[in-house]
Amino acid sequence: MAHQRDDARVMGTYARRRPVFVRGQGTVLFDADGEARLDFLGGLAVNALGHSHPEVAKAVCDQAATLQHTSNLFLTEPMLDLADRLAEVTGWDDAKVFFANCGATANEAAIKLARRHGKSIAADKVRIVTLDRSFHGRTMATLEATGQTEKHAPFEPLMGYVDTVAHDDPDAVTAAVTDQHCAVLLEVVQGEGGVRPIEPGVLAAARAACDARDALLIVDEVQTGMGRLGEWFGFQTTEVVPDVITLAKALANGLPIGAVVAHGPAADVFGPGDHATTFGGNPVTAAAAVAVIDTIRSQRLLDAAKVRSQRLTSAFDELARRHDLVGGWRGRGLLLGLELTQPCAPQVERAAEDNGLIVNAVGDDLVRFAPPLTVSNAEIATAITALTTALDEVAAA
Ligand code: PLP
Repeated sequence: MAHQRDDARVMGTYARRRPVFVRGQGTVLFDADGEARLDFLGGLAVNALGHSHPEVAKAVCDQAATLQHTSNLFLTEPMLDLADRLAEVTGWDDAKVFFANCGATANEAAIKLARRHGKSIAADKVRIVTLDRSFHGRTMATLEATGQTEKHAPFEPLMGYVDTVAHDDPDAVTAAVTDQHCAVLLEVVQGEGGVRPIEPGVLAAARAACDARDALLIVDEVQTGMGRLGEWFGFQTTEVVPDVITLAKALANGLPIGAVVAHGPAADVFGPGDHATTFGGNPVTAAAAVAVIDTIRSQRLLDAAKVRSQRLTSAFDELARRHDLVGGWRGRGLLLGLELTQPCAPQVERAAEDNGLIVNAVGDDLVRFAPPLTVSNAEIATAITALTTALDEVAAA
């Protein structure tokens, strides 16, 4: 019934999966029949604290009952609290934040910031470099920055302001960044593009090229931020410090929010009227995000993410030894991809769902795992049992 209503009334941009969930608690999602499934996808790397976390629910309810919106003509305290928290967890004393509504609008803002920076140096310093197989969003500017040409085709012509280079070739990055480039935009682990950690040499080359050409290094932390890789931000698992990061997804554990955090000269690029959005810094979503940061801190969830990551990857190693369908794994922290030896990831996704485990297929031969940072060892054990059954079923089919 729900699927019929969806077909009739909602534009068909999503290939929906079968379950219709009505409730979530921690790592568990319940459908209308009360059937429970373990959510190891976390709303696409969003529910870092699991579903319906009490601290987030309380922050949202309290703020919604107090003040829901004023517009950016007026200051509100939750937004300032969140900006302070983001400065603390980036470790950037001089950080400044622009609040957006999602990942695409955070990246859109960062691209505008970079162009503003570039144009203050030279009129034609407006191009950006991105990496093949990257994903940065679906607005026109971020679609073009997304290094997946199959997603471009239906919407061409695009603006032609992006140069996309191989994701694993430091020399290609060095060569691509010219005086006409105002930024390099990249992910520390490509999420949608296949859970692929960036090679340290590529990251170092991007930093050096940006320094040499007075361009900004922007790290898209929409998927890797907020503890997902075991540190607050993905760049903190590397040797490289960007000028700008973009955030969304887990920032408010499921409420729509995005943010651009910049430090150094990049923090002061935007002036009045350069960028704006009606809902940016909304008190309810900002209060939720403050609760997320405070909970990650008080429950030491960065440490938990590292420990749970080890538990999960050990289980993947064991599966790779024992199961013909499993070749290995890649990723970092709690953003992991199980590599299959056959192009059967969609079948594994479906069989896992039938066995009570939500994960997702990325392409034909990779299954993505992004469980909450709060996931327990017992839940990991249950998930591995369900996954093993699913793999057995697909192998036998
Ligand atoms: N950047 C990255 C790395 C993402 O993974 C995503 C979404 O998957 C986005 C940007 C776009 O975020 P949103 O869907 O919130 O616009």
